[in-house]
Amino acid sequence: MTHIADCSFCRKPDSEVDRLVAGPGVFICSGCVTAAAQVIAGAPSESEPVAPWDAELPLETVLGNLGAVAAAGAQAERNLRVWVGKARELGGTWSQIGGALEMTRQSAWERFSGEN
Ligand SMILES: [Zn+2]
Repeated sequence: MTHIADCSFCRKPDSEVDRLVAGPGVFICSGCVTAAAQVIAGAPSESEPVAPWDAELPLETVLGNLGAVAAAGAQAERNLRVWVGKARELGGTWSQIGGALEMTRQSAWERFSGEN
């Protein structure tokens, strides 16, 4: 079976989860959807949202998160390259791709063409 992606939350590969739902360059497995729903159901509705990095955390927890954040970012970057390749296969120009990514045609070509 072809490996498509890992869950961006728990990092399990698609072969180890029931379902994997795709977002824009990220994925979430059915187990993480269930866990997230439980967190949402248990959260006070009036509470002010806090960015995860603004929560009080010990250094060990923060260091433990770095690998997961890097892995999710690397997977998103690989996905972006695949989507750009798909746009090229469909006849998309570097100007169109650059426009979609809010960068110049030249920047898009330099980043994604593999020709520089
Ligand atoms: Zn997951």
